[in-house]
Amino acid sequence: MSYSNGYIKDMLAKENYLFELNAGIKVLMFPCLNDNYGYLVHHESSGHTACIDTPDADEIIAQCKKMNWQVTHILNTHHHFDHAGGNERVKNFFNATVYGFIHDKERIPEIDVLLEDLEELNLLGSKIKIFHTPGHTLGHIIYHFPEAKVIFVGDTLFSLGCGRVFEGTMNQMWDSLNLFKKLDPETIIFCAHEYTESNAKFACYIDPDNEKLKKMQQKIINLRKQNMPTLPSTIKVELELNPFLGRNFKNIAQNLGIEGASPEAIFARVRAEKDRF
Ligand code: ZN
Ligand code: FE
Repeated sequence: MSYSNGYIKDMLAKENYLFELNAGIKVLMFPCLNDNYGYLVHHESSGHTACIDTPDADEIIAQCKKMNWQVTHILNTHHHFDHAGGNERVKNFFNATVYGFIHDKERIPEIDVLLEDLEELNLLGSKIKIFHTPGHTLGHIIYHFPEAKVIFVGDTLFSLGCGRVFEGTMNQMWDSLNLFKKLDPETIIFCAHEYTESNAKFACYIDPDNEKLKKMQQKIINLRKQNMPTLPSTIKVELELNPFLGRNFKNIAQNLGIEGASPEAIFARVRAEKDRF
């Protein structure tokens, strides 16, 4: 993702966004690094605060000071440096516990609790369900809070896009993305990067007759002009408009000249087209 420096600076001038969700869950979202979002998830009565990944330890600590919150849990989605690079500093600063996928225990710094697919945690007064979503990395996991109706998806899903398939196979990534079809459509999605504007550009290229998508692209362009985040999204919006999730595969396959191909094959082709875009 290449933004100009001026763009990054302006974006960082907007320092955070607070969302109050169901089940007493508050989410503080803040931009950090080039195009990442950091997330602090707070539950008042337990006093617990989880940070989803540690893209920027100094920024996480600064945001916690402002809110008067203490990180008790670090919930890692995957081992990449812009997600787990701040683990050591955040863990030591707050004496927090680090969670991550069991088979990434060698790659996630300072990991304490080893999570498995479909495991359920009870933290922040909430049930938190873990889903293993291999594709972007082999050990990628995502965190679903069903009562608060929110899901933290790391680099598996982006608004109007999905993560690059670095370690897994295209079929694995397609299976991982299919998980989102089983969730409540009202579920709020927080992704790890602000990639929506370029994703929208690609989506309109690969699915050119989709009028709803064009309207959405205009909305996104307007938000980004004001340096506003395009996130969160929802399952409902992504299932309808995201070109990687299959809703419009018939039209997309026609445009690509691969009518009748399997959904996995169409997904793989769309992902390859995005990599070249
Ligand atoms: Zn990543
Ligand atoms: Fe990332």
